[in-house]
Amino acid sequence: MEETSASSSKTDLPVESSEPPGAFSCARPFGARNPEDRIGGSAVRQDTSNSRTSAAPKSGKVVIHPARFVVSSESLRFRKRFFPEATAADWNNWKWHVRNRIRSHSLLSRILVLSPEEEQAVLGQGQAFPVSITPYFAGLLHWDNPLHPLRRTVVPVSAEMGTAAGEAEDPLGEDVHSPVPGLVHRYPDRVLFLVTDFCSTFCRYCTRSRIVGRECERTLGRKHWERALGYIENTPSVRDVLLSGGDPLTLKDDVLEWLLGRVRRIPHVEMVRIGTKVPVVLPQRITPALVKVLRKYHPLWMSIHFTHPEEITPETTLACNRLADAGIPLGSQTVLLKGINDSVEIMKRLAHGLLRIRVRPYYLYQCDPIKGSSHFRTPVEKGIEIIQGLRGHTSGYAVPHYVIDAPGGGGKIPLLPEYWVGRDGDDLLLRNYQGNTYRYPDPVRDSNEVPAGVQP
Ligand code: SF4
Repeated sequence: MEETSASSSKTDLPVESSEPPGAFSCARPFGARNPEDRIGGSAVRQDTSNSRTSAAPKSGKVVIHPARFVVSSESLRFRKRFFPEATAADWNNWKWHVRNRIRSHSLLSRILVLSPEEEQAVLGQGQAFPVSITPYFAGLLHWDNPLHPLRRTVVPVSAEMGTAAGEAEDPLGEDVHSPVPGLVHRYPDRVLFLVTDFCSTFCRYCTRSRIVGRECERTLGRKHWERALGYIENTPSVRDVLLSGGDPLTLKDDVLEWLLGRVRRIPHVEMVRIGTKVPVVLPQRITPALVKVLRKYHPLWMSIHFTHPEEITPETTLACNRLADAGIPLGSQTVLLKGINDSVEIMKRLAHGLLRIRVRPYYLYQCDPIKGSSHFRTPVEKGIEIIQGLRGHTSGYAVPHYVIDAPGGGGKIPLLPEYWVGRDGDDLLLRNYQGNTYRYPDPVRDSNEVPAGVQP
């Protein structure tokens, strides 16, 4: 295992840094109006012109700022309109974006013209999943189209307030598969380590909305980490550790380094994965310093949560290129969402865009039945139709695995179109992507045959 710079002492976790940057400002109940409504120390400028069109960057110029991150011309315009006192260095600083997340009705309604359904959802709060959107991601939202795909992923609507049949707070039964708090052990050889409950931007269909953004946003804490690490150390069957949350990449560099160092020093842990949406909603976080930390802990894999082709911006591209250049294999985990990405055409555009930025479309998830998510769920036939529309019609690398994460903790179950038609004697009957049937010689196996690798 690679030598790391982090100390092996359990007391060496940088205590002051153990909370994500958002920890110092607990979430104000959404809808509560801040009398000052200030962003980044300056009052938000009112958009009275209503002249802004879709902010989704497609063909705009890209500006390289001294802080060495790209800024699309659309992002630049958005900053100047809504954050006039933010400097280029502020905009390129991920901590500035975290500090200035949009979480109140008053701020959101100055940036977007809210529909009645959105208005009701953000004002009728209380029990609802809070709102949090980075200024960067807010700049990608269409200002007056509530059906804009990216907008629907982060701005709540009143449909969230209901609970449909089969919905639950923890549909995957993660809590009952947790031998210690913050660690889910469902499959024999791998564990899910929930290292933080913090995300910079909250997805409305989040499987962990029971955890994310609740109470005072903070990491699950050193005490939980130590218990989780102790469990992994004492469980030799665990060869693969997935760091998730919340979003692990919202942890500060020194905290993440400590954590990665501790996990990688466990002899039986062969690989570490990080699940994150940071490159999509907070791409400025992928700094050279972060990449320098990550590349020390190979084999390190990363699953990035992409949803729609409009998320692939110059900023996201640079973030993914930095990670890929550091030798980190990148995959995308995409949730199938009604009215957002539920078509072959959109999914193909997303898959092709991802491959161009060196991210392999890995999983397409049927949306988990969390409370208030029925407006996001499509029939399973839609997912099959999408896979059928991709397989054979584009590169194999562009075709994700379509899965349902089984309610109750059954794990991921793959869903495939019917390509195996049946058997005719010694022939298999197979259907190709064009619907034509082919025969493949596959003699029925002799029951006395000894399988490969088995001693006669
Ligand atoms: S990034 Fe993941 S954990 Fe965070 S809010 Fe979105 S779905 Fe939930």
